[in-house]
Amino acid sequence: MDAATRFADYLRGHRLRMTRERRSILDEMLEVRGHFDADQLMMLFRRKGRPVSRATLYRTLARLVDAGLVHKIEMATGQARYEPMFGRHHHDHMVCVECGRIIEFESRDIERLQDEICQRKKFTMTGHTHQIRGTCESCSAGAGGRPAERGRDKAMKDRGRALA
Ligand SMILES: [Zn+2]
Ligand SMILES: [Zn+2]
Ligand SMILES: [Zn+2]
Repeated sequence: MDAATRFADYLRGHRLRMTRERRSILDEMLEVRGHFDADQLMMLFRRKGRPVSRATLYRTLARLVDAGLVHKIEMATGQARYEPMFGRHHHDHMVCVECGRIIEFESRDIERLQDEICQRKKFTMTGHTHQIRGTCESCSAGAGGRPAERGRDKAMKDRGRALA
């Protein structure tokens, strides 16, 4: 089933119509590769001569995320990045809270454990988002390493307190 059919099915299931704007946003999302914030997508659509309003974009992105066609990555700043998932292999993310870098990873062990836990809880998983927050290699080592160190100092202090 292609993405347009899947989105149309999803919309029908939610008593919504495939409007021209929704279709246009879906088509553009299918062409982009990588992780984008809403502003970058707005600019991209405008450059391509298919401008959309911010409200429509946010609403449609939320629907695409709900339909499982787009992945939403929560950033430390409170903003989000979006990534089209259609035709892409499942993967999860590490997000650097300092520089915003997104690292993709796949772990068969984590996937298997999630399946096992769901089975144990008799929970039918339809999808999942696994996201790890922290500091990337260069932020931990370089000038941006201080907040990480601060975090480490605090963690050590907390540990000290726990031991006391
Ligand atoms: Zn996963
Ligand atoms: Zn970083
Ligand atoms: Zn990704």
